[in-house]
Amino acid sequence: MPRGRRRFMGVPAISIAAAALLAPAAGSAQTTRDGQPIDEEYTRLIAEHLQDERISTELVDHLPASETVPTPLDFHGRIVGTPGELTYAADIHRYLRAIADASPRATVWSMGQSEEGREMVLMAIADSATIASLENYRDYLQELTDPRATSEERAQALIGEMAKPIYWLISGMHSPETGGPEMLQELAYRLVVQESDFVRTIRENIITFITPVIEVDGREKQVDTYYFNKDRPDEEGDLPLTYWGKYVAHDNNRDAMGQMLQLTRQVNAVQLEWAPTIMHDLHEAQNYLYSSTGTGPYNEAFDAITITEWWMFAENDVLEMAKRGVPGVWTYGFYDGWTPNYLFTVAHAHNATGRFYEVASYGPDNRTLSVGATVSSREWFRPNPPLPEIEWGPRNNTNIQQSAVLFSLKYLADHTETFLDNYWVKNKRAVARAREDGAVAAWVIPAGQRRAADAADAVNELLRQGLEIHRADGSFEVGGVRVEEGDYIARGDQPFRTLADMYLSRQQFSLENPRPYDDTGWTFQLMRNVRIDEVRDTSVFDRRMTLVTDSVRASGGVSGRGSVLVVEHTTDNNLVSFRFRHAGVRMLAAEEDFELDGRSYRAGAFVLPSLSDAERAAVEASLVDLGLGARATSEVPDVPAHELDVPRIGYIHSWRRTQDEGWVRGTFDHYGIPYDYFDEKGVLGRDLRAAYDVIVYPHVGGSAEAHLNGVTIEGDLPLPYQRTEKTPNLGGIDETEDIRGGMGLEGLMALADFVKRGGTLLVEGSTSAIFPEYDVTPGIDLEQPEQLVAPGAVQRGVIVDPSSPIAYGYDGDQLPVFFRNDVVLNAGGTPGDGSDTSPWANTTPMATRPDLAPVDPASGGDGTSAADTAGNRGGANDADDANAAGRADEADDVDDTDPATSDDAAPSGPFASTIGRFAGRDADAPRVVLAFPDDPTQMLLSGTLSGGEALAARAQIVDAPLGEGHVVMFSIRPFWRWQTQGTFFLGFNAILNWNDLGAGLESAEREPAVSQGGASSH
Ligand SMILES: [Zn+2]
Repeated sequence: MPRGRRRFMGVPAISIAAAALLAPAAGSAQTTRDGQPIDEEYTRLIAEHLQDERISTELVDHLPASETVPTPLDFHGRIVGTPGELTYAADIHRYLRAIADASPRATVWSMGQSEEGREMVLMAIADSATIASLENYRDYLQELTDPRATSEERAQALIGEMAKPIYWLISGMHSPETGGPEMLQELAYRLVVQESDFVRTIRENIITFITPVIEVDGREKQVDTYYFNKDRPDEEGDLPLTYWGKYVAHDNNRDAMGQMLQLTRQVNAVQLEWAPTIMHDLHEAQNYLYSSTGTGPYNEAFDAITITEWWMFAENDVLEMAKRGVPGVWTYGFYDGWTPNYLFTVAHAHNATGRFYEVASYGPDNRTLSVGATVSSREWFRPNPPLPEIEWGPRNNTNIQQSAVLFSLKYLADHTETFLDNYWVKNKRAVARAREDGAVAAWVIPAGQRRAADAADAVNELLRQGLEIHRADGSFEVGGVRVEEGDYIARGDQPFRTLADMYLSRQQFSLENPRPYDDTGWTFQLMRNVRIDEVRDTSVFDRRMTLVTDSVRASGGVSGRGSVLVVEHTTDNNLVSFRFRHAGVRMLAAEEDFELDGRSYRAGAFVLPSLSDAERAAVEASLVDLGLGARATSEVPDVPAHELDVPRIGYIHSWRRTQDEGWVRGTFDHYGIPYDYFDEKGVLGRDLRAAYDVIVYPHVGGSAEAHLNGVTIEGDLPLPYQRTEKTPNLGGIDETEDIRGGMGLEGLMALADFVKRGGTLLVEGSTSAIFPEYDVTPGIDLEQPEQLVAPGAVQRGVIVDPSSPIAYGYDGDQLPVFFRNDVVLNAGGTPGDGSDTSPWANTTPMATRPDLAPVDPASGGDGTSAADTAGNRGGANDADDANAAGRADEADDVDDTDPATSDDAAPSGPFASTIGRFAGRDADAPRVVLAFPDDPTQMLLSGTLSGGEALAARAQIVDAPLGEGHVVMFSIRPFWRWQTQGTFFLGFNAILNWNDLGAGLESAEREPAVSQGGASSH
């Protein structure tokens, strides 16, 4: 509640700290000498809480008073930067609204809601005339976005006289980084109230957008957690911030490509509507203030102008702060600038510019901050480096980042024409790029490709992110690419082709770069296993096509006549929704490839043998809704089959870390896969097998032993994670009276017992190491190759056992997979050893790039040609007329002698030697389904890799039989950050076929089906 307003009229006073800081340079003293009364109490408290007077500038050492607008002290009863206090997002939002209610210079509106129903807000600040006609300024920026609709003359008028750039400040994404949201409250007040020339220039020349807390769910949990720990005795362990958002933690800043999270979607929507010129994200993970540029390599799709804009702003920060003697403001030596998954990539994808700060932590407690030589040394990129030791606290954090933000706003305000013109030029260049020699003129996404539903999903994602997409009005061939009527075409002559360049290219990250900050490869169509063809012939623009104006759906439904339905297993992810949506409907899975009515079906096809009228109607509606095709026939196909028994699923998470499982959980929720969610200790003291058929235990991170130990036990008091009066934002997702401790060996035995009694355990990444480490599943060795350098990248998977249910639906003998060096599994196949490598020489980076393997070696491509960029080889099975736009021509892509689909023939084709290594295995040995190629030069599809010899013929997926059940281990990451839609079904197959995973082995080895009354010919 706002407390009583205090008035400080009369002669402006300057605090002693402020007076000491008045810089000699002309102009810098004006802001405290402009005749505006200051809020003496607030100003006194600034000086009181500041731990080192060097961390201040004339911009922030005082607060102006206002007759009408409440200060943070008025509203919250404390100033920003008060030690020992944090503010809930809801209260921050109330304060910003109080400012807007009190001043015509500001307005606040809702951006939308988080997964947990909390509001994200946007505040706009400018002079009152601008705020009164904000929509006009939005429209001006939209005009500058599209050179196809805006003349050069009009653009110059907009740039020179009419338009104003928008500078959008976002914070509170990383919930433990608490200072940005606090600081932005004071900044908002200052921008609205201060009458200095400096601030007036900002107010009049630009529009400042503020989103103080973007991860609103995590902020409220963080504040709860802070106050909970504040009251705990010192000797007791602190409660970690267990969950941030509903799904992911720090990775909420890695969602820009996939956009699973509401916060990313809302930011994307604002970028598309308002076209903010600069997006600036405030973080806290460096000393004292890092202003982003990064070490490079920079993403190759970013316009050169964008790169230079990063440096202009960063150097202005370093200059202005160094000029005032503020130590520790620097750039360059953190982060690279390569991967387009950060939130601020939403700006870059749309030809605006994103930047970020990393400030020394707000705390909110005062402390001594000591740094090592690698942080305090004077380097070219930090001419005034951090000090070896300084007294730090929340007011230091507030002062340093608010000052730098003000210098950035002023910089934009002083150079509006430059940055508006830059934006205009970037948009023009993007449109023109399509006509440059050798450039991609258009991307074609065949609508009738094998994975038609996921192709439509990919189209919808690109549409939502602002890419314009057309549909071909007729069939034609252009630039060697066959386009069928209805195919999707992303024209290259559009402003946001930058996004297409970023996502749809293949990456070659040189090993001579500094160590990459995040993933090195991400090619959209490879990770989604969707075919996208590049057209390099501009005559494509003369073809008739119609703009897509709404989300699209693959053509689904039933063709043919008869009481039996056969749904081809395309690995379209909607198939798993289809199974769970109709859990009561009897469905079988074909165990071999077969022909029906002249069409080929891949093993795994769903057979619905006996539908009631009501079931048939419901199923048909779902098929249309989900974009899935089915063939109606009068008899059950003559092929071995098993029941698709709907499993009861248990889902294990760890209190140590919820980050990665959150992506898996989000995937399950999206596709409607039901599960019981419990922590590692939840495996103890009950009969798991009686409760569940499948248990999913996603990547946590750390050693196998760490998985058994759980959260380290400190002190005597339990560490509850619960919703209480004092922690109203905790709990909900899961709760416990004590997060400490783990499942221990007893838990491991409980899981083994679950499997031995016929359960299926699904593990990925770090959790796939547990059973081999403790020798519960013999025949699988864990390896830690020292010479292997495999940061997140797209590698090749060879389908060495296409008869395994885990490989059902996957066509051909290979699949792009996402792998990072968490776990390397050796399950036979007599692989080779690693060889010497010397990565990260850090000298002449991008001149020396790793060779990529061709996506389709059978085509004889060199790995970088247009034809090789197709992620899905298509398939001979595509001509299902339930998919109206079937592409008969795709059959050309596939060699009918494909070894992966003929059980008895000796392997042939480019991966024959890899496949051959796994032939003739013992019946009870681990069954390798997907493996790295045995030739290291055939692994890397996008990103980087060194020492690939250490991965030769290593298992990517192992189905380890144990008793009557199975442990299915993924060393790849099938559910990586909502980007790997192409490998989701490897996991879904294991779930759907949980009690028939032995299918496809010789009949003597096959396990009896658990359920009865099954398939026609089983
Ligand atoms: Zn951060």
